[in-house]
Amino acid sequence: MCNTLQVRWTIIPLIPPQPWVACSGCGGLRAFESSNKIRLNANGRRLDAWLIYKCSTCDRTWNRPIFERRNVRDINPAVLDALQSNDPSWIRAETFNLEALRRKSQRIDEFSDFEVRKELLHDVPDWEHLEIELSVPYPSSTRLDRLLALELRISRSQLSALHQNTLLQTKPDGADILRRRIRNGIRITVDLSGMPDRDLVWRPAALGMTS
Ligand SMILES: [Zn+2]
Repeated sequence: MCNTLQVRWTIIPLIPPQPWVACSGCGGLRAFESSNKIRLNANGRRLDAWLIYKCSTCDRTWNRPIFERRNVRDINPAVLDALQSNDPSWIRAETFNLEALRRKSQRIDEFSDFEVRKELLHDVPDWEHLEIELSVPYPSSTRLDRLLALELRISRSQLSALHQNTLLQTKPDGADILRRRIRNGIRITVDLSGMPDRDLVWRPAALGMTS
């Protein structure tokens, strides 16, 4: 749309999820934190790779398997490279691998602290609609209504009123989308044609500038 201010928000969670596993050091189930270190073990042509976690109480380590006894030639060379060089961004993505964590732990603590990077994609002088594209590279436990209320500096009741009046629409759509976790690729459009304060209030919030 030609009268749409388009922005992209990238949501970066700050704290990786913590699995609860039985600790062999202090006994009982404990939350484990990622050490962001990889351990590799070669056995002939077979390779084991683990991500090392530490007990939050006693520091005893727990090795979360990334793979075990895998033939070297079956490993994606980019993955092998990342593992051998302890590539921080690959490791970071792996610490947010909820599916892999769920296979090893019944309870996983997630944290809602996040940082938002806001980019301007398309600017127009006489804009009346705001379109926000969400980029969510790692799974986040943050609900869409919390994110929008916080970042657009409005209350959750204002937000749900906008949604009910279809002034705020989302793609994909759904009655309870505001109460669900944010996901990559969600687009939010807000019709601000009736809001004279859009340049003063909404624009700086959408772009992350202090008004
Ligand atoms: Zn422990």
